[in-house]
Amino acid sequence: MTGERTAGSPAPDELYERLKAFEGRTTVQGGEGRDPVNEPMIRHWCEAMGDTNPAYPGIAPPTMLQAWTMGGLAGHPAGSARTGAHDELFGLLDDAGCTSIVATDCEQEYPRPLRPGDRVRFDGVIESVSPRKTTALGSGYFITTRMDIHVGDVLVGTHRFRVLKYAPARRSPQPKPSPQPQPRPQPKPQPASTARAARPRPVVNRDNEGFWEGVAEHRLLLQRCAGCATLRFPWLPGCGRCGSPEWETAEASGRGTVFSHVVMHHPPFPAFEPPYAVGLVELAEGVRMVGGITGVPYDKVRIGMPVELEFLRVEDTKGAMELPVFRATAEEAV
Ligand code: ZN
Repeated sequence: MTGERTAGSPAPDELYERLKAFEGRTTVQGGEGRDPVNEPMIRHWCEAMGDTNPAYPGIAPPTMLQAWTMGGLAGHPAGSARTGAHDELFGLLDDAGCTSIVATDCEQEYPRPLRPGDRVRFDGVIESVSPRKTTALGSGYFITTRMDIHVGDVLVGTHRFRVLKYAPARRSPQPKPSPQPQPRPQPKPQPASTARAARPRPVVNRDNEGFWEGVAEHRLLLQRCAGCATLRFPWLPGCGRCGSPEWETAEASGRGTVFSHVVMHHPPFPAFEPPYAVGLVELAEGVRMVGGITGVPYDKVRIGMPVELEFLRVEDTKGAMELPVFRATAEEAV
């Protein structure tokens, strides 16, 4: 669930009254699963998830519930009993300026396992519409839809899906929409630091605090398993190879090469000025880590490029912090 808070005592909200009238309206009636529950789909799912539970494919993994009700890329066939209530509700919200949407959470219940051969049918309903809420993203309404899945007359699953349909918050003055595309920023070297909006802070927890202590001392610390000596990054409480919870730190040399990279254009983050490059760097020690690539224009970053660790000091409205980044070595820099 995203952080949510009410905007004080609810003011009379005519739109809310209209939205609330959708509660209880059917969105799908008598939908039918495209395929019966079947072993090949269960096997593919288990392979993709890495789930080796021997109960499968004798029964289907419970969390596979939606796989049996989805319409696939082509959507549900014509006459699949969609009522249009959902589109009508979302149309109202769009017209009221709540044009953005984010899925917030999903709840499922599994009254009985699905087995190969089961044929599912499903019904959907708009279960609830919240009063208008103000969140960090913007102001809007939480919409919960519920799907009940049956085999014959037996309820086998319930799927609740909640979205926030909202008018995005304006964080900074933005140009009015214009039919002319806005000019794109010209390619340029990335700034060493930025005084823009507060940069997202790394999440420091019990498992990785030693790493960030190292960064504060300008040391890049990996973990080395005490059981099998495998190096690992990011920091984890146990070894992925042998399972041992015992480990010691090993300081990385800071040399590496770009294993892969992306150039970020969209979505915009207030703290960053696109476009900029983010690399997956393979360290000389063999582990890989994600970090900003500096010292070279974003469009000159290439796979295999040698890079060297440096520490970027960022000062913003929340104070100063150090971040490990990777600078193209001298011969690569332009
Ligand atoms: Zn190990």
